[in-house]
Amino acid sequence: MTPEIFTVPFMQLASGDRLSVQVYQYVGATAGKKAYLQANLHGAEIAGNAVILQFIEWLNTLDATQLIGEIWLVPVCNPIGTNQRSHYFSSGRYNHYDGKDWNRIFWDYEKAEEDLMAFAKSHLKSDRSTIQHQFRQQIQERFSGLLEQLNAPSGVPVSELYRYHLQSLCLDADYLIDLHTSAGQGLDYVYYFRDREASAAWFGLPIGILLDVYDGDAFDEAFIKPWLALETCFAELGRELRFDIEAWTLELGTAMQCNPQSVENGLLGVKNYLARKGMLATPEPPLPLQEMKLTTRSTIKRYYAPAGGMIQFKIALGSTVEAGQQLYQILSFNKEGRLPQRTDVQAEQAGLVFDLSINQAVNQGEYVLGLL
Ligand SMILES: [Zn+2]
Repeated sequence: MTPEIFTVPFMQLASGDRLSVQVYQYVGATAGKKAYLQANLHGAEIAGNAVILQFIEWLNTLDATQLIGEIWLVPVCNPIGTNQRSHYFSSGRYNHYDGKDWNRIFWDYEKAEEDLMAFAKSHLKSDRSTIQHQFRQQIQERFSGLLEQLNAPSGVPVSELYRYHLQSLCLDADYLIDLHTSAGQGLDYVYYFRDREASAAWFGLPIGILLDVYDGDAFDEAFIKPWLALETCFAELGRELRFDIEAWTLELGTAMQCNPQSVENGLLGVKNYLARKGMLATPEPPLPLQEMKLTTRSTIKRYYAPAGGMIQFKIALGSTVEAGQQLYQILSFNKEGRLPQRTDVQAEQAGLVFDLSINQAVNQGEYVLGLL
């Protein structure tokens, strides 16, 4: 099977060059669901590109009868972020035009539409697929209204231009997978949304973190929040309804690296998830479901440096620590005529070290590590 390949130019530069994203679109012999995968929304988080490349190579070995529905793949989905540098270091987490996090800029229908309850009431007796179809249509209609402003003489800022083009590729998807890594050194895990624990396990990753608190306007959130809100409206009206609409963020290891194990975990996870969703009819047996540590985002404890200096870690990524255990030491110099100092930092509570700073020089207040 070979993909349709098309580019979506979204921005012309001062030099006249254009920035684009490129889509690899695989269409199966049988119509079905649409899965949308992208990688590298944050400029330093590159591992997902290797996942997509290997996934493309694998899809190319299938024939169209083995795909039910369609898969859209968008590697290097944020060219500005990917190319941004400070010396050799990729620094593309924030849009340098307005300082916004590239993953906090997306259009959220739930914020644009006040009255989801009215929609739910008017569809209380409809079947699920009718509701899904009509709600999606409503989202897309409202979204297409953004194009007017894009084409107006007054235009829109870079982040709105960018998000419009990216979201126009995925708003009609059923399953959306956004491939990230830690901004430092991280484990492999998946962020999931409420009531989707069962299919989270299909990624075969050891940790799943429920997004019980939102950042606001993240790519996965903006996609699924309207659907979750509609499910809530129906629940309030006494009808249990789950749409087969899902959004995931996979975190695959360390920034600025394509760690082979993380890439393999991501690839296996994506293939397994789509196979279990019934989109891939391949002879490969599904991964056995492994034990998954489920936790919530609000219980993550992040540690920030109490002093400026050089970090000496006393624990390793992936280790479990007890309350009171030493996590790291900071070696601090001063300009006050005194000898240098060591500051020990202990764990406030027990936890799993899932994330470590990649830079061992920190200013006071800088992020050092995270415990789950
Ligand atoms: Zn990220």
